[in-house]
Amino acid sequence: MLFSELGLGPDVLRAIEDKGYTQPTPIQEQAIPWVLQGRDVLGCAQTGTGKTASFTLPMISILASGRARARMPRSLILEPTRELAAQVAESFETYGKHHKLSMALLIGGETFTEQVKRLDRGVDVLIATPGRLIDLFERGNIMLNDIKVFVIDEADRMLDMGFIPDIERIVSKLPKLRQTLFFSATMPPEIRRLADAFLSNPKEVTVAPPASPSETVTQAMALVHEEDKRKALRHLLRTEDVKNAFIFCNRKRDVAILQKSLESHGFNAGALHGDMVQSKRMETLEAFKKGEITLLVCSDVAARGLDVQGLSHVFNFDVPVSAEDYVHRIGRTGRAGRSGRAFTLASPLDGKQVSAIGRLIKREIPLIAIDGLESAEFLSEDEARRGRSRGRGKDKERGDRAPREQRAERPDREDRAPREDRAPREERQAREERPVREERQPREERQPRESLAAAEARRQQEPRRDRDRDRRRRRDEDEDDAPVIGFGDHMPAFMLRSARRPAPAEPAEQSSQEG
Ligand code: AMP
Repeated sequence: MLFSELGLGPDVLRAIEDKGYTQPTPIQEQAIPWVLQGRDVLGCAQTGTGKTASFTLPMISILASGRARARMPRSLILEPTRELAAQVAESFETYGKHHKLSMALLIGGETFTEQVKRLDRGVDVLIATPGRLIDLFERGNIMLNDIKVFVIDEADRMLDMGFIPDIERIVSKLPKLRQTLFFSATMPPEIRRLADAFLSNPKEVTVAPPASPSETVTQAMALVHEEDKRKALRHLLRTEDVKNAFIFCNRKRDVAILQKSLESHGFNAGALHGDMVQSKRMETLEAFKKGEITLLVCSDVAARGLDVQGLSHVFNFDVPVSAEDYVHRIGRTGRAGRSGRAFTLASPLDGKQVSAIGRLIKREIPLIAIDGLESAEFLSEDEARRGRSRGRGKDKERGDRAPREQRAERPDREDRAPREDRAPREERQAREERPVREERQPREERQPRESLAAAEARRQQEPRRDRDRDRRRRRDEDEDDAPVIGFGDHMPAFMLRSARRPAPAEPAEQSSQEG
């Protein structure tokens, strides 16, 4: 099929030609005609399938006639992360270059002033993350009752990130008569329920079975001991023909640590995680896209759905906590029919997650050995649970923290917390613009030499399984940044003085004190 057969306007076709696309992808072929007919669409498609153009192209044609009024955008696209929102904005710029549509990008981490000015001038296309949109709505800077086309992208990710209450709130402000396009990589029951609530008689289009990794990605897994993971990664980076790669960690703090460690070993590595200020996130991503940075150590939140042309490799430094994230991570490579390679470093405690991934992708990831490193074995579930719970006792003392599995990187806070739990706007804004947390040195570099040697000697005496468990426990404890409650190790002098028993009070005085 040709793009010209889909019913798109001539200026959009010209932009597609300029971009060099010859044929629509399956999701474009299926969705575009329905969107142009004004139908609601429920699209089950992953990133990498050409999903973005399947809604941006027809939206440009639909919005080409008509004008936006101040503060009343004509269309709204919700994205779970700032990077994805910026990517969709780029897509509108590319395909809308022969049109005069105005666009605004409302994302956290940037000042309100510019965004408000933009809204005041009137926008045809508004692309936003849910939290920032609600902030602007609450300030009275925006009205949503002129929205004609509404897009929810990456709905399953929105669910994971806790955005659904925000989205329900936003939908309640939209006009009933509108066109809704709803995209999700997977369709769990909760997402299906939302789709039923938001869409009216939708046309369903599905382009790939939910959560199936692209066939063009070659996958492999190395099962090594926790302490060998960095070495294993460096070995892979040196032996693989890596042009550019995403290296995923489960936690923000590990992103910074791993990036420093790679740099200290002479690799050209940058970092991308949710605690970085937005300008730095954009700058790093841009440098990576231009090839100035070869390796980008990142977290799921920061890298979700990012489209970097021709990414040669993905490395999972940690096995992702959720099996769906595995599919999303490796889907950064092998895009648009190109081949890609994805390597996962698993440690003995990861057996359960690896099985879950195997069930989801309906195959086992082939195991490889790393030269010079001893291969490990998965611990049984019981052993793994024991290993983990040993590290949790401390958490309990410090109040009820989420279990480690749930403490993988959380989304940008401004977008996540339910409204009633949120801090006042000013505080949120300050938090959103807070600088990157000071990055600490990799642990080996922080320890004095003697203790490292002594620890190593001791470790050599321990059975390997115990070592892995203990390492994981230590890591969990390290992660616990909660402040010391009470006096900690310091006992103030007044508490050490002997307490003198007070003289018995006169009965009359006593009763007046009590009264
Ligand atoms: P997406 O799924 O929207 O993230 O798109 C994945 C990649 O496919 C992006 O780099 C797009 O530029 C590219 N793409 C989108 N549509 C087409 C097409 N019809 N032909 C070739 N590449 C495309």
